[in-house]
Amino acid sequence: MAIVETVESPSGPRRLRVSSPATRAPIGEIQVANAADVRAAIARARAAQPAWEALGFDGRARYLKRALAILVQKYEAYIAVIVRDTGRSRFETIMMEIFPACDSLSYYAKHAKRLLADEKPSMHLLRTKKLVITYRPLGVIGIITPWNGPFILGLNPTCQALMAGNTVVLKPSEVTPFAGRLVADLFRDAGLPEDVLQIVEGDGEAGAALVDGGVDKISFTGSVRTGRKVGEACGRNLVPCTLELGGKDPMIVCADADVERAAGGAVFGAFMNTGQFCCSTERVYVVETLADEFTRRVVEKTKALRQGAEGEFDVGPMIWPQQLDVIERHMADARAKGATVLAGGKKNPALGEMFYEPTVLTDVTHDMLVMREETFGPILPIVRVKDEEEAIRLANESVYGLSSTVWTKDEAKAVAIAKRMEAGSVCVNESAVSYGATEAPFGGRKTSGVGQVNGTTGLRGYCHAMPIVIDRFGPKAEHVWYPYTAEKAKILERIIKWVWGTPLGDWLG
Ligand code: NAD
Repeated sequence: MAIVETVESPSGPRRLRVSSPATRAPIGEIQVANAADVRAAIARARAAQPAWEALGFDGRARYLKRALAILVQKYEAYIAVIVRDTGRSRFETIMMEIFPACDSLSYYAKHAKRLLADEKPSMHLLRTKKLVITYRPLGVIGIITPWNGPFILGLNPTCQALMAGNTVVLKPSEVTPFAGRLVADLFRDAGLPEDVLQIVEGDGEAGAALVDGGVDKISFTGSVRTGRKVGEACGRNLVPCTLELGGKDPMIVCADADVERAAGGAVFGAFMNTGQFCCSTERVYVVETLADEFTRRVVEKTKALRQGAEGEFDVGPMIWPQQLDVIERHMADARAKGATVLAGGKKNPALGEMFYEPTVLTDVTHDMLVMREETFGPILPIVRVKDEEEAIRLANESVYGLSSTVWTKDEAKAVAIAKRMEAGSVCVNESAVSYGATEAPFGGRKTSGVGQVNGTTGLRGYCHAMPIVIDRFGPKAEHVWYPYTAEKAKILERIIKWVWGTPLGDWLG
C-alpha cells in the first residue's frame, strides 16, 4: 500500500522509490541524504551567504523576477510534475501552487526592500542618541516541508528567506519529492548563484540532520508530532524556529448567514485538495434555525462533486496512504458513537484504494475522534448549535488553533466573534484564504504552531532586528560614566521624580 518504499541496497546510500497516489505506478527514486551530506550542504550555503547578501535587495530581487518569468512561461511543465506527485486536478494545482507561487515571487521581489528597510524611530527618553534598527539576515535557513503543498510550501518561505539575504537548504517531503525539487530547478534555471539554494532529499533522517546540522533557523511545516521533535531539537540547539503545524479548523454559521454562500464555502473548505489542507474546514457549527437548509445544500453540493484522476474533475485521491488509515479510524469511531453519514462514507469503488468519497456527517459530538483530532481528509462533520455563543464555545474547545471561519451578513458581529476565536487567523464569509493573503502574518496557536510566516512579520522572522544606538552630540563624558558620586545620584533621582512623578514629565516621556 505504501507509495514510498525503501529500495533494497545492502551497501551504499539509502534509496526510496516513490509511486503515484492516483495510479500506483512508480514515478522515480530519491537518495536519502545522511548527516554528512546535510552538513556539507550547510557548509556550502554558509560560504555562499556573504556574497548573496552583498548583492543587496535589487540584486537579489533580479533572480526572483527571472524565476517568475520562467514560471509564467513554463508553468505547464511544473503542473505536470505536481499533478504526477499528488494526483490532484490541473485546476487545483494552478490555484493552490502556481498562482500563489507567482504572487510570492513577485511580492517579495518587489516589497522586501521596503519592508526590511532600516528604521529610525525617535527616542522618547535618550534624546541625545539616535536609533537605527537594521534587519540583518540570520545566515543559513533550513526549510522542511510536507507533502500537501509540495511546491508552494517550499517556494514561499524560500522567497522570503532569500530576499532577506539568507541562503537556504530545503528538505522537501519524501512523499512528493519531485514537486518539491521544482523549487530548486526553478531558481537554477533563473541563474541563482551556486549553493544559495540547495535541496537535501530524503525522509525524517534527512530532516533531523538538517535540524541538528548547524543552521541559523528552521522553518518547519508539517504535523504536530514531527513539529514537537523539531521544536525540541531547536530548543536543544538554541536555534530559532517557526513551526507551522496541523489544525482542526472550525466554521461558525450564524443565523443571518447567506446560506447558499456558506454551504458552497463549507464544501470547498472541506474538500479542496481532498481535505489535505492545513486550513481545511474540519468542523461546522451551524445555528439551528439555519441548520436544515444549510445541511441540505451542503449534501446536494457534495453529491455533485466529480471525483477522479483524469480529465476534468473536482476531488482527487489521498496523497499519502497513512492518511487513509486516519480517515478510516475516525469514520469507524464516529459510526460506532452514533454519527449519521449523509454523503460518501467509503472509498470510491470505481476509482480504487486511494480515493475516499467526499463525506458529510451529522449527529456528531465532541467525544468523537472526527471532532477532536486532525482528519486531513474529505470529511465534513456538521453540528447544530442553539446559538452563536454555543458555536464559539465549541469551536474553541480544541487543542488546535490554526484558522477558522465565520459566516454572517453582519460584519461588525463577524469581527467581534473573530476576536474571541482561539485561532491563528479568521476568515469571514470566505474559506481558508489566510495563507494566500500575502500581507497577512500566518501561524497557529495552541498546538497548531509556534511563530508566524508571511508578510512583514514572516520576512522579518528571517532576520535579526539589530538596533544601532548612536550618540548625537559627542560630549567628552556622559553623566553616568565614572566616577559615581552622590551629586550625580541626586540628579538621577530628580529626573526620576520629574519624568515619572509629574504630569509634564509623563507627557514628555
Ligand atoms: P510530517 O510532519 O510527517 O512531515 C513533514 C516534514 O518533516 C517532511 O519533510 C518529513 O520528511 C520531515 N520529518 C519527518 N521526521 C522528521 C524529524 N524527526 N526531523 C525533521 N524533519 C522530519 O507532516 P506531513 O504528513 O508531511 O504533512 C501533513 C501535516 O502538515 C498536517 O498535519 C498538516 O496540517 C500540516 N501542515 C501545516 C501547514 C501550516 O502552515 N500550518 C501547512 C501544510 C501542512
